[in-house]
Amino acid sequence: MPELYKNYIGGKWVEGRSGKTFENRSPANYHDLIGIFPASGSEDVDCAVSAAREAFLRWRLVPAPKRGEILFRAGEFLRRRKEEIARAMTREMGKILKETRGDVQEGIDTAFYTGGEGRRLFGETTPSELPDKFAMSVRAPIGVCGLITPWNFPMAIPTWKLFPALLCGNTVVLKPASDTPHTAVKLFEILEEAGLPPGVANLVHGTGRETGNALVRHRDARLISFTGSTEVGREIAATCGQGLKRVSLEMGGKNGQIVLADADLNLALEGALWGAFGTTGQRCTATSRLLLHRDIKKEFTEMLIERAEKLKIGDGQNPGVEMGPLINEAARRKVERYVGVAKEEGARLLTGGENYAEKKSADGWFYRPTIFDQVTPNMRIAQEEIFGPVLVILEIGSFEEAIEILNGTPYGLSSSIYTQDVTCAFRAMRDIEAGITYINGPTIGAEVHLPFGGVKESGNGHREAGTTVYDIFSEWKAVFVDYSGKLQKAQIDIE
Ligand code: NDP
Repeated sequence: MPELYKNYIGGKWVEGRSGKTFENRSPANYHDLIGIFPASGSEDVDCAVSAAREAFLRWRLVPAPKRGEILFRAGEFLRRRKEEIARAMTREMGKILKETRGDVQEGIDTAFYTGGEGRRLFGETTPSELPDKFAMSVRAPIGVCGLITPWNFPMAIPTWKLFPALLCGNTVVLKPASDTPHTAVKLFEILEEAGLPPGVANLVHGTGRETGNALVRHRDARLISFTGSTEVGREIAATCGQGLKRVSLEMGGKNGQIVLADADLNLALEGALWGAFGTTGQRCTATSRLLLHRDIKKEFTEMLIERAEKLKIGDGQNPGVEMGPLINEAARRKVERYVGVAKEEGARLLTGGENYAEKKSADGWFYRPTIFDQVTPNMRIAQEEIFGPVLVILEIGSFEEAIEILNGTPYGLSSSIYTQDVTCAFRAMRDIEAGITYINGPTIGAEVHLPFGGVKESGNGHREAGTTVYDIFSEWKAVFVDYSGKLQKAQIDIE
């Protein structure tokens, strides 16, 4: 019998009110049923938001360093359970064990980094323009935050949102992706064990269309933090705009790696393979465009094909496997569709372009690493996010042309350049339109103490992680203390 999982509301594991459920299966083997989860409706969301609202009255008064202590404990429990959670995550979403260990580690890092911020939620003190008056700014919590997360980083992304939200004194309702509810259950077990008071963090399973939408529309969810597709982000932003809610969006990318003629080609090759095919290309920062200088293009392309064809594809739980499956059938269909579009547009398929299961018996959503050449900047495969192991090669003749092509998509999340020329490196840092730029490193590799987010259609101006995340999850309040004993008028009492 498969295990029946529950929502976590008001400090209790509870069944969904609708009685409807959904199955969670492994993408590496769709006969492997992980569990049954509640397909929650608006009534469940309502209960979770009410519990969070009630808990907010007390949680906002807990001193931030004390809130931080709970996060330290959560970090410690995560550390102890790292291997078990990583294994469950690989089974649930497919990426290889080395990567799921990294995903849990990101949660651990976030817990310790955020816990420490409990003693550093700095505001400013500044002189008042009037005598015997004190002026300062302090951070205040917002209230109930609705968090909606994707499946590609099932531990890292929820913790990126949850821990800073809690540290600032907010309470939360998390709606994890319906492809990865099991990892979310593990995170909430840890929060419970770490001593988080009932109602402070609530977990509601279900689809985006129903559960997520109910959360976004709920009047008492004062903030929505979302990571996922630009399409859904746009819809959420419109709804939040109507409700005058704060909304932070981390969305898609069409990230490019530039390789100039003077680059260390072996280093650039390692970066391209990891950036394009790590997590089966399913990262918002994945490398999906390779901009190769014409002088090294032939040599580099040959090196790339040779290595890509050797990547071992399979169940990420097995040692030696380098690339797991796509997340689900729809994701593989999307990749297949784009491969068809690329061929129609006149791009040349160099390797891959086929479903792994067609060649070998495999019961998962596998797809071969796929590389296209003769791609021009305006082709759909060079403009649209595919979210799979598909890399397109664009030829460049100069640094300037590379920057123009790199910037020429609606997205602006991550970017990379390989060069030995310090002038080109610094110009790239200045001229690339992206939230993240790597010099001599791949487009992936965020660290939790630096701001994370993109420009243009990759985001809406917020930055998660770093110290900037606190601007998402808190309101600034200006406070004046007048100890003059008389009415003083700013801008008017100017003598
Ligand atoms: P979505 O944007 O559809 O999903 C992300 C999260 O939002 C999930 O929890 C989802 O729920 C939820 N959601 C979906 N629709 C709504 C809605 N109307 N209101 C509220 N919440 C909603 O991404 P997918 O997982 O479907 O992937 C589709 C594409 O999105 C990918 O191919 C990729 O291009 C992009 N993507 C980008 C990510 C990134 O890291 N920036 C991460 C994931 C995807 P549920 O899935 O449970 O229905």
